[in-house]
Amino acid sequence: MINVCDIQVMKPLLAQHGFHFSKAKGQNFLIAPWVPQSIAEDSGVDATAGVLEIGPGIGPLTQQLALRAGKVCAVELDDRLKPILELTTGEFENLEIVWADVLKLDIPSLVKEKFAGLRPMACANLPYYITSPILTALLEAECFDCVTVMVQKEVAQRIAASAGSVDYSAFSIFCQYYAEPELLFDVPAHCFLPQPKVTSAVISLKVRKDRNWGVLDEKVFFRTVRASFAMRRKKLANGLASGFPELGKNGAGEVIAECGFDENVRGETLSIPEFALLANAIAGRLK
Ligand code: SAM
Repeated sequence: MINVCDIQVMKPLLAQHGFHFSKAKGQNFLIAPWVPQSIAEDSGVDATAGVLEIGPGIGPLTQQLALRAGKVCAVELDDRLKPILELTTGEFENLEIVWADVLKLDIPSLVKEKFAGLRPMACANLPYYITSPILTALLEAECFDCVTVMVQKEVAQRIAASAGSVDYSAFSIFCQYYAEPELLFDVPAHCFLPQPKVTSAVISLKVRKDRNWGVLDEKVFFRTVRASFAMRRKKLANGLASGFPELGKNGAGEVIAECGFDENVRGETLSIPEFALLANAIAGRLK
């Protein structure tokens, strides 16, 4: 197996194929072999798993996943990487590469088509410029057991943040609504070529089998969450009144009281069950 993380191997390989990194495509390739090994190991991928990888690049994580999984389907946007990936991963019979923009794919259909009889998982060193839309698509697909991704450390902290902390955001709630996050380990910038400006971190999102939040209307729930965070540091009533003009300031205040919250409560202190309570009360009034 070609050690694509060895810079002495990678540089001539890229030069031989006239490949130049594209910043616009979020191309920072791993040059520290322990990283893809640890991601694959910690992801829990085994022979029962069908793994969707996003952005294989020249294949360091792809190799590690293919060594462990029942099947790997890797989606890559940049077809200049075709001849290189063929050299670095061509030996794996359980690997299929799909040359496409992952954001344009119907993920549930792809998973159904490629991973029959296998436990679907997702694993990737994500292109950071589209972290949120990719994670949103992976979680909304509602077909993975677990999603293990490398993202900017700051984003990983936001995903795993608890209610009331500075990192807690609408995106924390979105991710935690669907999954249980666990921060696995940090990856310093010097583990990549070219080096990104930020530290990275690997996070695992174990998808919840039962989402017993008691949410009556998911659209209203996520609208409530967005409205509550749109005016951070302001009273919840202001955010709700602006996010739900149909409620008005009075209606927003009444809903907050009805749920038993203090009138000065701030949105960023509420937990998911508390948001569920609030969203259900709002949904009742919008009917
Ligand atoms: N997995 C490789 C590694 O760890 O060295 C490469 C990771 S690099 C951070 C992100 C990869 O995602 C690049 O190969 C890039 O071409 C690919 N990519 C960028 N946008 C994409 C998209 N919309 N769909 C699929 N792949 C994409």
